[in-house]
Amino acid sequence: QGAIEQVGRLIRDIPDFPKPGIVFKDITPLLGDARGFRASIDLFAERLGGEPLDYVVGIESRGFIFGAALADRIGAGFIPVRKPGKLPAEVHRCEYQLEYGTDALEVHRDAFGAGARAVIIDDLLATGGTAHATGQLIRRLGGELVGYLFLIELTFLNGRRRLDNAPVTSLIRY
Ligand code: 5GP
Repeated sequence: QGAIEQVGRLIRDIPDFPKPGIVFKDITPLLGDARGFRASIDLFAERLGGEPLDYVVGIESRGFIFGAALADRIGAGFIPVRKPGKLPAEVHRCEYQLEYGTDALEVHRDAFGAGARAVIIDDLLATGGTAHATGQLIRRLGGELVGYLFLIELTFLNGRRRLDNAPVTSLIRY
């Protein structure tokens, strides 16, 4: 429990970001704290429980930070899932609904072969739209989705409900 509290203390609330009425969970104090950041990666690795994994799939952009560190820690490859137009080779694209309009995420078509075991990671689970779209991309690649990992879960938004195709793990819940 000590490690969870250590990590939790390094996440701060920024009111009215990116727009009025939204309280943004800012993880940059955690990233800047050597012990805290390592503790968060320790916790992710521990929750995976030594399950064999081929890839950690990180969602742009804060998912890259935790995902790359975790991949290195557990001896897996790292796959970036990015906003449209950023990846240079051929991609699969998945569109998803926002409150107003749609957004999309992309992954390289040759990122991995069928049957690869992958876990998805992001800093925060809100409505679940972003993570759900990423799960669809893994399926398009023929990967075996082992689970979803989040540093923070905003439980009152019920995003977990949309991620019913694999176990959801979050370290800190509000
Ligand atoms: P969802 O698709 O679950 O509604 O939104 C999750 C995505 O939005 C994640 O990629 C996450 O990085 C970003 N996000 C939404 N709200 C916050 C927040 O308060 N803090 C941080 N750090 N990320 C957020």
